[in-house]
Amino acid sequence: MDQNTMKALRYYAPGKYGLDDVPVPQIINPTDAIARVTLSTLCTSDVHMVHGHIPSVTESLKGNPRIVGHEFCAEIVAVGEEVKNFKVGERVHAKPGVECHECMMCKLGMPTFCAQGGVFGTSLHDGCQAEYIRIPLADDTLIKIPEGLGEEDVLLLGDMMATAWFGVKNAELNPGQTVAVIGVGPVGQCACILASQVFGARVIAIDAIASRLDAALQAGVAEIGLNVTTDDVAGKIAAATGGLGADATIDTAGTQESMNTAFAATRVNGIVSTVSLFSQAISVPMQLIVFKNLTIKMGIQKCDGLDEMMELIKTGKIDTKYLLTHRAPLNDIMKGYEVFGNHQDGCIKWVVTPYER
Ligand SMILES: [Zn+2]
Ligand SMILES: [Zn+2]
Repeated sequence: MDQNTMKALRYYAPGKYGLDDVPVPQIINPTDAIARVTLSTLCTSDVHMVHGHIPSVTESLKGNPRIVGHEFCAEIVAVGEEVKNFKVGERVHAKPGVECHECMMCKLGMPTFCAQGGVFGTSLHDGCQAEYIRIPLADDTLIKIPEGLGEEDVLLLGDMMATAWFGVKNAELNPGQTVAVIGVGPVGQCACILASQVFGARVIAIDAIASRLDAALQAGVAEIGLNVTTDDVAGKIAAATGGLGADATIDTAGTQESMNTAFAATRVNGIVSTVSLFSQAISVPMQLIVFKNLTIKMGIQKCDGLDEMMELIKTGKIDTKYLLTHRAPLNDIMKGYEVFGNHQDGCIKWVVTPYER
C-alpha cells in the first residue's frame, strides 16, 4: 500500500456523520486481513445508526467516531501470519460481522453479539464505507467470491440475503403456500426472491412505495403488489386466499402499522415472522393472536444459509442485481445517505464504488 490515509464515512453522534481522512488500517492481530473495499452498500441499519436510533452503538463510541458499513466486497492487500485460507489479491465478500465460534454468544448461535466484536461499524470494528478495512478473524469472516461470479452477484449475500433467509425459514413456507411480505425494501425484496424462487411460495408484496412494488413484480418475485396507501390490504389478501389470509407473513418494516397488518393478514394457525429491529416499542393485540393461534417468530439473523445461497447464486436462481438501483463513488456517500435514507428516486440499494481521486 502506497497510501497512509484514506477516506472513510464516520459516525460521531446522532445526526453527526461525514467523510473524513483517517489512517489506513494496519494488521493488529495475526488473524487479521487488510482489504481494499471494491464495492460496498448503505444498509437501512446504517441510516438508523447515524441518526441515533440504535442507542447501544452510540453509547459504545465513547468519543471515538466509528467508520460505518457492514456489507461489502473487497480485494485482500495484506494478511496476518495466522491467516490460512486467504491470500493477497483474492476477491472476497464478508459476513456482516466478526464471528469467533468460541465465545458464549457464538456458541448460542448469535454471532451478531460475538465477544470478539460483532457487526462491522457498530461496537468494536470499523466498517466498510472506506477505502480499506481491517478484517479480524479473516478465515472465519471472509467468503471467497467463486470463479465466474462478480462482486455484484454476491454483494447482498451476507446481510440482506442472510436476513431474508432467517425470516423466510422462520415462516416455514411450503411450496404453493401464500406469503405476504410487508415492506419490500432490500431485505423484503430478498425475502420475495427466496420465497418465490427457492421455496416455491406465492408472494404478495406490500409497501407504501409504488416503485418497490413494481420492482418486485417486474422481477417476477411477487405475484401481487399491494400499496398500503391506496389498497385495502386486508381485503385484497383475503380475496386472494379464499378468505383465509396468508399462510405466513414476513415483516421487514418494524412499525406498529406493519405489525398490525401482519396480525390481520395471517390466517388461523399461521406464522408471523419479522426480521425488523424495531426502533420503537409497539403494542401487540394479544387476544387476536391467541384467537387466531398465530405463531410469532423474530430475532437477529444468524448468518445461516450462506453456502446454500451461494450455490443458488451460481445457478442463477438467486439474482439480486435488480436491487442495485444506484451507484456512486465513496466521494458521494453523503448524497447516498440522503437519497437512500429518504427512499428518494426509486432507490432500493445505494452501492458505493471506490473513492475517485
Ligand atoms: Zn445491515
Ligand atoms: Zn464469538
